[in-house]
Amino acid sequence: MPYSLNAILSLPKDDVKGDIFIRCPTTGQPVPTGLHTGTVVFDTLPKIQMRMHCPACQKDHWWNCTMAWVVESARPN
Ligand SMILES: [Zn+2]
Repeated sequence: MPYSLNAILSLPKDDVKGDIFIRCPTTGQPVPTGLHTGTVVFDTLPKIQMRMHCPACQKDHWWNCTMAWVVESARPN
C-alpha cells in the first residue's frame, strides 16, 4: 500500500463486508482494489486518486471511488 489511508480508515463494520472492485482498463475485468468495507466506509471515501497493483494485468492503476463498487463477500464466521 503506497499511501497512508489513515485519513479515511474507520472502525470496522460488522454488518456488511464487501470487497471494493474497479474495472481493469486493460483487460476490462473486475479486479479487487485490496480495500474492503471492513476497513473503509465506502460512502466516505474521498474522491482522490488511489493506486493499486492490478492482479489481472500486473500493472498499477489509479482509481477513485467514482469508478469503484462493492461486492459483498461472505463473512468468515
Ligand atoms: Zn489491470
